[in-house]
Amino acid sequence: MSESVLSLTRLYKRFGALQATHDVSLDLQPGEIHALIGPNGAGKSTLIGQIAGSLRPDEGSVHLAGKEITALNVSQRARLGLGRSFQISSLAEPLSVMRNVMIGVQALQGHSFRFWTPVSRDESLQAPAREALERMRLGHRAWTPVSELSHGERRQVEVACALALKPRVLLLDEPMAGLGPEGTAQLTELLEALKQEVPILLIEHDMEAVFRLADRISVLVAGSIIAQGDSATIRRDPHVREAYLGD
Ligand code: ADP
Ligand code: MG
Repeated sequence: MSESVLSLTRLYKRFGALQATHDVSLDLQPGEIHALIGPNGAGKSTLIGQIAGSLRPDEGSVHLAGKEITALNVSQRARLGLGRSFQISSLAEPLSVMRNVMIGVQALQGHSFRFWTPVSRDESLQAPAREALERMRLGHRAWTPVSELSHGERRQVEVACALALKPRVLLLDEPMAGLGPEGTAQLTELLEALKQEVPILLIEHDMEAVFRLADRISVLVAGSIIAQGDSATIRRDPHVREAYLGD
């Protein structure tokens, strides 16, 4: 077995009386899309928080490329290559696509993005931003204000923001949410092309997209992983069908 890029070992997180994640272990291999599925309230976002560093697990550990990162904060983890895009859009509407992506790069490099004077000419910000936009097929939209983009294009910008930081792994929390069939198909294709370079931990409700994209699937129900396997195995699993797919 190859070395995991990301591994979670026996993570527990409690909110008051609620055990939001219970003994969760999973890993992400190079070149892979690993999907995490489960009903609302299952603990998926809580898990992402523990990986990204916005939430500290009560017990358990998180390793990135063999290094333990459990005690590190969000920006330390981001600098080590943990890339994420968010469930709720955080783009600055009046600014151009390019400027939005550059702000992310600048923040990671440790500058304050309040003082953005002539950053638009700063190659160290613009080069990675442009490269990320091209990978998301948004090169032609670079200088368009975000407010003029379609919903699907915004999602692509959000992924580009994460990619511009040259992450080792990408955490995506419901990237297809609210997209129509066309936007979903487009993003599916882009993620498929991306995974060889950046393995992806994908949280997604759109099961068609999940079954098409995921090399492996973990099913989270009430804070615990009830099944783990490839798409075909998960599709057939009677517990999964009962607990999650509504059979
Ligand atoms: P999912 O993303 O799978 O829908 P979440 O991880 O958002 O689930 O939530 C899991 C459970 O933890 C839910 O019952 C939610 O209400 C609860 N929860 C999430 N965050 C907090 C928090 N900061 N404080 C208290 N309860 C929380
Ligand atoms: Mg969630």
